[in-house]
Amino acid sequence: MKNVLITGAAGFLGSHLCDRFIKEGYKVIGMDNFITGDKKNLQHLAHHPHFEFIEHDVTQYIKIDGDLDYILHFASPASPIDYLKIPIQTLKVGSLGTHNLLGLAKAKQARILIASTSEVYGDPLVHPQTEDYYGNVNTIGPRGVYDEAKRFQESITMAYHRFHGLETRIVRIFNTYGPRMRLNDGRVIPAFMGQALRGEDLTIFGDGSQTRSFCYVNDQVEGIYRLLLSDYAEPVNIGNPHEISIKDFAEEIIKLTGTSQKVIYKDLPVNDPMQRQPDITLAKKLLGWEPKVGRAEGMKITFDYFKNLTTEELYKSEHKDFSGYINK
Ligand code: NAD
Ligand code: UDP
Repeated sequence: MKNVLITGAAGFLGSHLCDRFIKEGYKVIGMDNFITGDKKNLQHLAHHPHFEFIEHDVTQYIKIDGDLDYILHFASPASPIDYLKIPIQTLKVGSLGTHNLLGLAKAKQARILIASTSEVYGDPLVHPQTEDYYGNVNTIGPRGVYDEAKRFQESITMAYHRFHGLETRIVRIFNTYGPRMRLNDGRVIPAFMGQALRGEDLTIFGDGSQTRSFCYVNDQVEGIYRLLLSDYAEPVNIGNPHEISIKDFAEEIIKLTGTSQKVIYKDLPVNDPMQRQPDITLAKKLLGWEPKVGRAEGMKITFDYFKNLTTEELYKSEHKDFSGYINK
């Protein structure tokens, strides 16, 4: 039985990855410090014989007994609001945390996959984004704490690959959604769905002409799984290329949820990327991968998940009106 360590295991993507690796017959060690995660996401694995959980902050030295075959480093705040609230932790988990995990991978002779992001392209001047685009990032802007941590993460990972011969993989994840996202994490899908469920107006930032391309979580996990098992060390985009403006997306959510609320407009956050769409030519060629779940199907499953949350969860308003916060 192969052993895999997954950091960020109590988060949205990390918990789905734990499920996938358990299903594939691995022994999974999940690690998290719960800074943006939730114990609830792993509850169903608590007594699974092939699952172990370690509560730990990966920016501190990491000790694991026994062998490891694979490491997936997914620990990091991922929502713009989260990383604005905890900017230093965001920089540390992408830099110090990644360094610790690369050191652990080297010691255990394990292959490591790190979660990078479309944010390494910043507010992109190339569209759609190909892996060879260097990006357009404001190092000192509010999003710089996340973008630069992720860019450093890619650099140190390639350095361990080139200098130490470590087996490394880098996935550049584009906006991914699905059940187990935190309703109040501030990202656009939970934000709109939460607003619809509470009978509030949907807050569009800016004029809503900015675009995103949303990937359903099962497709993302499949892409990550294939990339890990591939022999390709350079970054690979994984996302759904179906692009939509935020304004049109808000209309889709209004239809899906049946809310009688309207949209209202708030300030656009500083350095909010104006367009984002992955070019997935490389993933198709290398991994034979492309997304299978359309937005209508994925959004319905996600809305069903949010609908079933408790009233307490629905009204837990960490980021009720964060449009002012984000531009501080
Ligand atoms: P999430 O916030 O749901 O999960 C992140 C998890 O990491 C949380 O459980 C959190 O508690 C944990 N964590 C943070 N700092 C930690 C630390 N120092 N030590 C241990 N655990 C720590 O976010 P997510 O959407 O699941 O994102 C997971 C990863 O994927 C992140 O690295 C993120 O940058 C990357 N990513 C996600 C998306 C997306 O659309 N979901 C897009 C691009 C990149
Ligand atoms: N957004 C919005 N209203 C919200 C939350 C987000 O209009 O209530 C916009 C945000 O400004 C961005 C897009 O939706 O243009 C996606 O934001 P998200 O926070 O999901 O992630 P990002 O793709 O910016 O990392």
